[in-house]
Amino acid sequence: MDTTASAPTRALATEAVHAGREDLADLGLHAVPLDLSTTYPSRDSRAEAARLDDFAVTGAALTGPPVYSRLDNPTVARFETALARLEGAESAVAFASGMAALTAALLARASMGLRHVVAVRPLYGCSDHLLTGGLIGTEVTWTDPAGISDAIRPDTGLVIVETPANPTLAEVDLRAVAHSCGEVPLVVDNTFATPVLQRPLESGARIVLHSATKYLGGHGDVLGGVIACDEEFARVLRKVRFATGGVLHPLAGYLLLRGLSTLPVRVTSASATAAALAERLAADPRVAKVHYPRIGGAMVAFEVQGDPHEVIAGVRLITPAVSLGSVDTLIQHPASISHRIVDEGDRRDSGVSDRLLRLSVGLEDVEDLWEDLDIALSAAERSRRPVTASR
Ligand SMILES: *Cc1c(COP(=O)(O)O)cnc(C)c1O
Repeated sequence: MDTTASAPTRALATEAVHAGREDLADLGLHAVPLDLSTTYPSRDSRAEAARLDDFAVTGAALTGPPVYSRLDNPTVARFETALARLEGAESAVAFASGMAALTAALLARASMGLRHVVAVRPLYGCSDHLLTGGLIGTEVTWTDPAGISDAIRPDTGLVIVETPANPTLAEVDLRAVAHSCGEVPLVVDNTFATPVLQRPLESGARIVLHSATKYLGGHGDVLGGVIACDEEFARVLRKVRFATGGVLHPLAGYLLLRGLSTLPVRVTSASATAAALAERLAADPRVAKVHYPRIGGAMVAFEVQGDPHEVIAGVRLITPAVSLGSVDTLIQHPASISHRIVDEGDRRDSGVSDRLLRLSVGLEDVEDLWEDLDIALSAAERSRRPVTASR
C-alpha cells in the first residue's frame, strides 16, 4: 500500500488518525488488520523470482502479495506510511528498535565505503557507545555544532545530532547544522521532539531517526525504531534490513500505528504539564538547575542540590525507571542508567552531571506529580543535612 505520494496535505492531528489506514473503509474494516504470517504461499515461482531480483537490485518496497516477513509485512508497512506522512518524508523504514535503526543507517553508508561519522554530544548513551565502541567499524569525530564542517572528511557518511538531546535537552540550530553538512546527509534523532513539535526534514535534515519505543508507541509496551527519509536512502535501508534481519514485529507495527493516532494529544498534554513542572522546579531552592527546551516537550532535566539517588528512591507515584514517552511519568538518573555506558569523562564534558535527573512527564494531573516530586526532593535534601550541619 503506497498512499504517501498522492495524498492531500492534511493537518498533523488528522494524519495521525488516518494515514496508513485510507483503504480500510473500502475493505470493510475499522481496526487495522494484524498480519502475523512469516511466509506467503504462491504457485508462481517464476514471478516470485522476478520480484526478488527486482528487490535485490532496487530495494524498492515489494508490490503485490508479500513473500517472507523479513522482506516486508503489510501491518508494518501501514505504520511506515503513517510515520512518513507525519514527518513529511517520502518514505519510512521500520526496525526492531531505535538501535537497530541507527545500526542500519550506519551500515547503509558503510556499504558505500563511508564509515566515518561526525557527531555532536550528548547523544543517547547507547548511540554514543555504538559510534565510539567500534562494534560495527564506525569511526567517529565528536565535535560541537560549530565544528561540523571542519570535521567532515571525504569518507564521512553521516552527520548525527539529537535535538533536544538525551538527557540534557540541549538543542542545536537545525538549519545552521544542515547548512554545515554540505552534501553529507544529516541524521536527526527526533525521538524527544516527535513530529508534533519538530519536523527536521523541513530544516534541511535528510534522515530522521526515532526510537519508536518512546513517544510513538507511547505506552511502554512496544520496542521499535524507524527512519524517515527520501526513497533513495530508504531503498538502501530496506536491503540492509533484509540482509541483517532487524525487522519490526507485526504486532509492534500494529501497536505503533495505534500509538500514532494519539501522539498529538499525548505530546500536547504532557508538554503543558512538563512546562508547568519545569517552572516550579526552577523556582525551588532544592533544585540547582533546570533544563527545559525552547521548543517545549514532555521531557524535563534538572540537577538537584541533594543526592539524586534519594529522589529516585523517594518517588511513589512517578515510576523510577529508564526509558521515556509513556503515559505515566518516569524518572531516572542518566549517570547511573541511560548514559552509564558512556565514558565518565565524555559524559561529564557533554553536560551530563552526576546530579542530573531526567523526568519524562506523562498524562497524570500536575498537582499529583508535584506532590510526589516535592516529597522526593525533601528526601534528597534530608540526605544533605549532615553535610551542612558538620560545617
Ligand atoms: C531510547 C533511545 C534510542 C534507542 O532506542 P531503542 O528503541 O531503545 O533501541 C535512541 N535515541 C534516543 C534519543 C533514545 O531516547
